[in-house]
Amino acid sequence: MPGQARAGVHFVEPLIFERGAPGRSGASVPPLDVPAADPRALFGDRFRDAPAALPEVSEPEAFRHYVRLSQANFSIDSNMYPLGSCTMKYNPKVDEHVARLPGFGKLHPYAPERMIQGALELMYRLERGLAEVCGLDRVTLQPAAGAQGELTGLMMIRAWHQAQGRSPKKVLVPETAHGTNPASCALNGLEAVAFPAGADGVVSADALAPLVDDGVAAIMLTNPNTVGLFERELPRIAQMLHDKGALVYGDGANLNALMGRTRPGDLGIDVMQFNLHKTFTTPHGGGGPGCGPVGYKKTLAPFAPTPTVERRDDGSYHLDFARPDSVGRLRSFYGNFGMMVRAYAYLREMGAQGLRAATDLAVLNANYLRAVLGETWHVPFDQVCMHEVILSDRNLKDTGVTTMDVAKRLCDYGFHPPTVYFPLVVRGAMLIEPTETETKETLDEFAAAMEAIRREAHEEPETVKTAPHLSALRRLDETRAARSPVLRWRPATEQSPAR
Ligand SMILES: *Cc1c(COP(=O)(O)O)cnc(C)c1O
Repeated sequence: MPGQARAGVHFVEPLIFERGAPGRSGASVPPLDVPAADPRALFGDRFRDAPAALPEVSEPEAFRHYVRLSQANFSIDSNMYPLGSCTMKYNPKVDEHVARLPGFGKLHPYAPERMIQGALELMYRLERGLAEVCGLDRVTLQPAAGAQGELTGLMMIRAWHQAQGRSPKKVLVPETAHGTNPASCALNGLEAVAFPAGADGVVSADALAPLVDDGVAAIMLTNPNTVGLFERELPRIAQMLHDKGALVYGDGANLNALMGRTRPGDLGIDVMQFNLHKTFTTPHGGGGPGCGPVGYKKTLAPFAPTPTVERRDDGSYHLDFARPDSVGRLRSFYGNFGMMVRAYAYLREMGAQGLRAATDLAVLNANYLRAVLGETWHVPFDQVCMHEVILSDRNLKDTGVTTMDVAKRLCDYGFHPPTVYFPLVVRGAMLIEPTETETKETLDEFAAAMEAIRREAHEEPETVKTAPHLSALRRLDETRAARSPVLRWRPATEQSPAR
């Protein structure tokens, strides 16, 4: 292998599912010492005539199979995972530990209030903590993802307008927005009106002014935005919207660049979602669970989802369902409680100074990569960035190597690729978010891998174009993998699946 390519964490062998032999077993059950029951009497014709055609394996075979599968996957516990806008930071294991404490982990969702006072107190305190971090009055913990938080916030905005006898339909959304922003508008019967950011990558209040009219319900802004830049005109923009009776929604997924330094509420944002699974250390990627709490100003409080967690004068906690103007319930029970425990543990562990230090380091790490990589890679917005930096493949134009090839080749170097081809405003974008949890040594290794790939692109482009070479699977047909996934193992000999 040329360069510094290494197998990294990837398992090089093909994944073999055909294992075991007839009669082999991983269980040892003592002989029956009671009369045998007739399963047919219990289960009727739901009882199988013959055993299922499953692999018969020993315990070590089964164990190794699953461990191998887990090793074929990439995770933040294996190496740097600079997936821009996704904040794949290391999740402290102490947060995992507390979320599994039986008093939290084994709570029954139907347990009566008097038996779950500790859980309610944790939710109450987490709400207060998050409200402080975002500079808003209250927070609902219910939404199960950032996208559902957006939906919740927009439902509250719509209800707020309706309570005043108005129903403006337009939501201004910059072209750099995460795809969930326009989707959340559409789900709410609102119309996303896309507008471009300025040439410097940030939204210009002057350019926006002509779009702000009586038909506008809100603007949705991501700050820092998805090219990693601080929206410095946000206070002016917010004033402009407020003057027209519209509200400001903040997509708070990128709070890892702000917390402890500045508060969205102080910048003019009225309602925003958090992504606890990004900033507040719940492991994520691979589909959930998520937790997307929504912070809001007092004026929006009547419309918040029900129930809210309230504290009585005697110090006890209860769930308040008596909220006639509420947009209703967004999620079964009270949301993904385990993630609330992790987030609360993280808040307490970090404290205000810790959160600020995390922000500072996240920004420093991104700027370090911007400076180092910027020596040879094209940096479209070459100014001080926030928590992430965007590169493009423009400097590789003569080699025929593209962003996708670079991403695949990074796998050979043991790194997860950055976010690619997003946001759309940068051609061949690579959005790199190192987060605060990576050391300088790791950042240097990543930069060295990028430099090696850049050299390969010029000297032996085929190596890059045919990557990855060291992973268990090569280039997948991603469309087919998504549209017709094979999720079930079938024995090679299975005749016709009667079940
Ligand atoms: C991740 C992200 C979202 C969506 O959050 P989910 O929890 O994946 O639904 C929205 N906006 C931005 C900017 C994000 O990075």
